[in-house]
Amino acid sequence: RKAAFAALRDLPPETKDGHRVTLMVNAGLRDDVAALDLTGADGIGLFRTEFQFLVSATLPQRERQQRLYREVLEAAGDRPVIFRTVDIGGDKALPYLTVESEGEENPAMGWRALRLALERDGLMKAQARALLEAAAGRTLQVMFPMVSEAWEFEEARALFDAQRDWLAARGKRLPQDIRFGAMLEVPALAEQLDLLLPHIDFLSIGTNDLTQFLFAADRANPKLAERYDWLSASILRFIRRATEEAHAAGVPVAVCGEMGGRPLEALALIAIGVDRLSITPAAVGPVKAMIRSLDRAAATGELAALLANPPRDLRGTLEAWAVAQGI
Ligand code: PEP
Ligand code: MG
Repeated sequence: RKAAFAALRDLPPETKDGHRVTLMVNAGLRDDVAALDLTGADGIGLFRTEFQFLVSATLPQRERQQRLYREVLEAAGDRPVIFRTVDIGGDKALPYLTVESEGEENPAMGWRALRLALERDGLMKAQARALLEAAAGRTLQVMFPMVSEAWEFEEARALFDAQRDWLAARGKRLPQDIRFGAMLEVPALAEQLDLLLPHIDFLSIGTNDLTQFLFAADRANPKLAERYDWLSASILRFIRRATEEAHAAGVPVAVCGEMGGRPLEALALIAIGVDRLSITPAAVGPVKAMIRSLDRAAATGELAALLANPPRDLRGTLEAWAVAQGI
């Protein structure tokens, strides 16, 4: 099967009825970019910039951040890279930045990601500048983690704009184009999509955190790992509604959580309209094989029926359908 997946490397992730899915990989290290050539993926849909911070004993200085981002962009060539600003704090605590987050009872719901970055804006400014400089002459794509209200996106975006203006005023070379996205992983944001969508170029759904917050089930607790299924009516209806709303505003939707790396889950996501998946590199072969054997229109019909009247065992029902379809 491994050889069969390798043979798929240069074939497009296109369904039998001609629907082209964008299949990207998640990364966090300079060397992860090699996965693009190995898998034939369309780009990096989630570059977790906090990795560099987590492996460092001291706060990575702007020059070091910039070097990493430039190396990643150069190695990716023409393929797009979406950098996510740091998702640190909470359980991804840094020894040099813990003081205020120490002793939080619920770190996953705590002072992390954008919440921390907007307050510690020195950190965010340095990262914004590093990204803008690294992408000089290219397209820069940035997304923000844990956006909970639309104004948080706007504040983060304004911080980038100010850094861009600062560089421009000094005659520095800027990115040719800058695109901004928001992660949808805090359920509350779904109730403000009308406020957010006019301001973003893409939406990326983080199903790891989204699932934990929708079900109130700690993603790191092994006792709960089996209890709630990604293929549940709640999750799929949530994602479908957000996707429909985004599409109505002309905004493309990605899923960048682990959910998208499982073929049956990926099938459901594509059936409900998700445009792009960003997944772990090892999943590209299996997911592409599924896509190429899928009749998307039929899957959309099946999902609509399942979500209109969800069976208790949605997974089992969908799996039986997929098998009957020869997927
Ligand atoms: C997610 O929450 O689904 C996600 C992609 O981000 P992370 O796993 O880094 O929290
Ligand atoms: Mg997350």
